[in-house]
Amino acid sequence: MPLFQSPAFEGHEGVHAFFDEASGLKAIIAVHSTVRGPAAGGVRMWAYENDQAALDDALRLSRAMSYKNAVADLELGGGKSVIIGDSRTQKTPALFEAFGEAVEQLGGRYWAAEDVGVSPADLAHTRRRTRYVAGLEGHDAASGDPSPVTAEGVFRGLQLCVRRALGRELDGVRVAIQGVGNVGGALADKLAAAGAVLTITDANMTHAEQVADRTGAELVAPGAIFDTDCDVFAPCALGGAISIETLARIRARIIAGGANNQLASAEAGQALYEKGLIYAPDYVINGGGIINVAAEIRALELGEAFDRAWVDAKLARLTETLGEILQRSIDEHRPTHLIANQVAKARLTRAGAKAAA
Ligand code: NAD
Repeated sequence: MPLFQSPAFEGHEGVHAFFDEASGLKAIIAVHSTVRGPAAGGVRMWAYENDQAALDDALRLSRAMSYKNAVADLELGGGKSVIIGDSRTQKTPALFEAFGEAVEQLGGRYWAAEDVGVSPADLAHTRRRTRYVAGLEGHDAASGDPSPVTAEGVFRGLQLCVRRALGRELDGVRVAIQGVGNVGGALADKLAAAGAVLTITDANMTHAEQVADRTGAELVAPGAIFDTDCDVFAPCALGGAISIETLARIRARIIAGGANNQLASAEAGQALYEKGLIYAPDYVINGGGIINVAAEIRALELGEAFDRAWVDAKLARLTETLGEILQRSIDEHRPTHLIANQVAKARLTRAGAKAAA
């Protein structure tokens, strides 16, 4: 399995493969960086086509966590783990306990949390074998569901973009939301309360109807959301919503939403900048969730209870950072996603230099 030749490899500190015959666990834990603190990031369970795809995903996602945690100013590095398997049919308590043993072997260099295909109930099994797991329920330090905090961060970031680009408040601003699940649904509630005019869609139309009923949003078919006449396009479904093809259809001035990996390609990031759109970089605007998880890690480490005020302060600072990125994009004539990467890399380099001194 070529590791160092993978295009997704970027100076990762450690990449660990685990196999447990009894439970069937096949997992990879990638630690991209610990210079700012222990690596933190979710565990994803996915039926990867092959081992290389799983390795590349772990490499790519762990690096992204280093950037996200640095931009959110958390004393955490970046890591991510993948369990190879079908989360609908192959989950067992033994599998998640074996995964806990794998995490424990890293001795605290990596903290796991939930991600696609993994629930707090699964992580409760992991917790039996390691203390380095966050995103659980039912204890004093527990942070619970991160989605409301993610949605609050996206709401504040979207509001900031509207103030900067349109010079107005949210009342009457037209927002199109793609995906009204945990994050998109909560965002819709907040926007409706602020007087925004919503158009929404979801692959699950029954669910979308419920959100439309309570927010007064207009409901459109998934494919039609890109053609909506709106001021803000908010991707809150899966990744890759912003491509050269969809950009040709999107009529918004602003792109600001909660989804991860919104840009289908680097070219799409450049193209939206050249079209004059304002883009809130995904991993900056959606950092509320990891801030919430970080509060749990912090509480567990200090032996204290979960501190909501700490989360609020970090979220406020993150929104300021977004504002600084938007301003630098104007001043330096460069797309926001490149500025965000530069901010993250600079924080990682500074922390590295401090650690070496
Ligand atoms: P979710 O599964 O609750 O919601 C996603 C919704 O998108 C679902 O209702 C799904 O039916 C819908 N969807 C999927 N494909 C679609 C399509 N092509 N068109 C329209 N709708 C589609 O997930 P979530 O927790 O709300 O997360 C949403 C996004 O935000 C994901 O990209 C996730 O990685 C990202 N994110 C979530 C958090 C968090 O705290 N939950 C934190 C950071 C980032």
